[in-house]
Amino acid sequence: MATNTTSPARTRFAPSPTGQMHIGGVRTALFSWLLARQTGGQFILRIEDTDRNRYVPGTEQSIMESLRWLGLDWDEGPDIGGPHAPYTQSERLELYQDATKQLLESGHAYEDDTTPEELEELRIAQQAAGKPPGYDNRGRYKTKEEIEASRAAGKPIVVRFKIPDLGTLKFQDAVLGEVEFDLSLLQDFVIMKSDGYPTYHLAHIADDRAMEITHVVRGPEWVPSTPRHVLILDALGWEKPEYIHVPLILGKDRSKLSKRHGAASALEYRDQGFLSGAVFNFLALLGWSPGDDTEIMTRDEIVERFSIDRILQSPSVFDNEKLAWMNGVHIRQTSVEDLLEPVAAVLEKPETEGGLPASVSRPVDRDYLKQLLPLVHERLKTLNEAAETLSFFFVDEISPDVEALPGRKSDSATAARSLEESLALVKTAEPFEPEHLEAEFRALADRLGVKAGPLFTPVRVAVTGSSMAPPLFDTIVGIGRERVIERIENAIALLNGAGPASDS
Ligand code: GLU
Repeated sequence: MATNTTSPARTRFAPSPTGQMHIGGVRTALFSWLLARQTGGQFILRIEDTDRNRYVPGTEQSIMESLRWLGLDWDEGPDIGGPHAPYTQSERLELYQDATKQLLESGHAYEDDTTPEELEELRIAQQAAGKPPGYDNRGRYKTKEEIEASRAAGKPIVVRFKIPDLGTLKFQDAVLGEVEFDLSLLQDFVIMKSDGYPTYHLAHIADDRAMEITHVVRGPEWVPSTPRHVLILDALGWEKPEYIHVPLILGKDRSKLSKRHGAASALEYRDQGFLSGAVFNFLALLGWSPGDDTEIMTRDEIVERFSIDRILQSPSVFDNEKLAWMNGVHIRQTSVEDLLEPVAAVLEKPETEGGLPASVSRPVDRDYLKQLLPLVHERLKTLNEAAETLSFFFVDEISPDVEALPGRKSDSATAARSLEESLALVKTAEPFEPEHLEAEFRALADRLGVKAGPLFTPVRVAVTGSSMAPPLFDTIVGIGRERVIERIENAIALLNGAGPASDS
């Protein structure tokens, strides 16, 4: 559906601080942000904390940290203020009380003293009668006197919105088109709770109006509630915003996305060594298409190409492997200079958190790292892999597995001989440079009458501890002649059954 996105949009992300932000929430924030940035509008962060039972202290901080990490900056918000401050709902209760008063006065809402116990009895009776559960609108028929008596007796009083008898209600959604809803399926619902806090239904409407929000971008779980919101807006005589319900995200098995599918929170992706640009790119394509096959895009390209028209209706599937692939591509497209600090940060983490072994002193030498990074740049799928991949360059000693030294197609005796010859070569090779070493090693293989594999594998395992390592001769140069000599000597001693040379 085409919709007006040429004029600057004021959008918001309005999370409830009820725990770690789910990746679906981050995707909603991203689309909302994209719309604001694409149209040159503003993006507002608002904390919806009126459900005091579900409030988890501290989650505002992690929500903000996630958004910041992804580069979703906000123009107004709880930490920076703005013309419509405060941006935390619990600090603006008066606004909701005013709206409630207006709805009570116009007869669109009423006070209700039905107790939680009575609601529970009702539910049990409905269940026994095989009827769907739901409030029976009994509060509509209470007198003012009854309510006052209940108030005097200290009973909890809520305010409910009265569902009008209008048959069906239609609203426009920029993604879903026209949505029609049967109002007889709705019961009078609470807008103001007995603790003086509004429900989401009322609060977000009052805030969206006060904050001059033009486009409400939110998760698909809110579609069934939208008729209530439209009713409240109409009752208050307020203009409706543009609704944009983003599509559902499913796991690869097409069930509701959960941790089981490998989906982590944004900050977990950060901690696992994903680049924020890659996660941004991946999330943008979860429910939006640039209109062609382009997959790899920078933030700026996505901002430029984003449009509501190409938000998809159908659920999008979260594919963790695709994200890993995308991350690798983004790493390759990032220059060594730009990767230097992020990789250094990974290496310098404590060993228990995936950093280099504790024996390696911090900070790591940036010049040395800059020399090494090109060797692994092409292979890294996450930044965290850097610690494991580069570890042997930084540690003093490695302990290769004696079984692994010969490689699969050779034996210990051949490996020991290869290493003896290689040792002599490494000691004298001049210049000590990759191309020259390679030429000498190949000549050595010819002289010995062996193939490259049986000669190179023992050397690779001896100097790196692994048969999977970056290009061998660059690696040898990166480790440095002295340490390579030591490591080859150790490996020879191991093969001869003497244990590491330093111990013998
Ligand atoms: N507080 C709501 C939530 O966290 C916001 C929904 C909306 O964006 O209107 O889901």
